[in-house]
Amino acid sequence: MKQGKLLYAGKAKSVFHTGTRDTLIVEFRDDITAFDGGKKDTLKNKGSYNAGVSAFFFEYLEKHGVKTHFLQMLDNHRMAVRRLEMIPLEVIVRNVAAGSIVRNYPFKEGTKLDPPVIVIDFKDDSRHDPMLNDDLIVALKLATPSELKKIKKIALEINRFLSALLAKQGILLVDFKIEFGRQGKTIRLGDEISMDSMRLWDKKTRESLDKDVYRFNKGDVMATYNRVAGRIMNAEAHPAGAQKKPAVQKKGAVSGRPAAAKPKAKK
Ligand code: 5GP
Repeated sequence: MKQGKLLYAGKAKSVFHTGTRDTLIVEFRDDITAFDGGKKDTLKNKGSYNAGVSAFFFEYLEKHGVKTHFLQMLDNHRMAVRRLEMIPLEVIVRNVAAGSIVRNYPFKEGTKLDPPVIVIDFKDDSRHDPMLNDDLIVALKLATPSELKKIKKIALEINRFLSALLAKQGILLVDFKIEFGRQGKTIRLGDEISMDSMRLWDKKTRESLDKDVYRFNKGDVMATYNRVAGRIMNAEAHPAGAQKKPAVQKKGAVSGRPAAAKPKAKK
């Protein structure tokens, strides 16, 4: 597939035109940022881990009837996607209190949120992604009431599928952020679902397995991404507790999975 001109460059991904109007290429770069870009680094192979995990989740969700923008992996850090008209909302589903909800509200970290709490932020870095409510979303014409209803329903479905999938590998899905777009009248999941956009805890140890390792200097973020990518992508084939070999990918594999998903020794 021919990669054309750059359409958009975000903090960790770039989007390119292709020869086909309705298809774009998303490149997952090795950049990592936190705190509105206040902390920045480039970490070798980081893009391929996030691309591989996102592709795995998109394929898994599609199999379960969730419409996404994913078409196919082109190499280990680029995917072809359907062109969507993106809706500037960050839809966050929370199963356990952590992060900003603990900083801003009187929740104790680790408290189970049942039913899950959906928080929707306005995707606008210049305003630091302020939290919205349904009335504001409609008044700002970001989404219609019926689109909003659909978005929340899909977000909760995704939460159920991914929580169950990750639980098989002993991983607790604490929270995650997703973004949606329109393809005609159809709402599809866009952007990415990866360690950068999820909060994942080891069920037993409560160790962070996501970008919090980078945000809060909790250890070697690439070692964590390597280990967790291997665990996530083994989740479907190997229920928790089953005897299994770690998923070892040869360097340069073109499966769309990270080239080195071999679990490393524990830090
Ligand atoms: P919090 O509001 O606690 O900072 O984030 C809640 C969840 O949404 C976390 O899993 C976090 O990684 C994700 N999240 C929130 N805002 C963003 C964002 O701007 N970019 C990305 N990649 N993830 C976000």
